[in-house]
Amino acid sequence: MSENKSVVERHGCIVCGRTYNVLTIYSPDDRLVDCTVTSPGGHCIPHERHPLVACDTHIEGEIEAAYHRWKVRTVEEEQEKEDN
Ligand SMILES: [Zn+2]
Repeated sequence: MSENKSVVERHGCIVCGRTYNVLTIYSPDDRLVDCTVTSPGGHCIPHERHPLVACDTHIEGEIEAAYHRWKVRTVEEEQEKEDN
């Protein structure tokens, strides 16, 4: 059987860190298919592999800047893992 699985996770807003409950759907090979914020006041940012969340109150520019910071940080962390 190969069915998508849904998992409820908690994720912080990438701008301010406020946490939200997020319903995430993963494919059988563990790729993110979809995510929905189930707490009020937040929404998911559509993205390749990670459920990213932001408050509805942030403007697009804030979210974009935070997203770029997040991306740089993630790449650095992955490189560190490879070094060790
Ligand atoms: Zn926020």
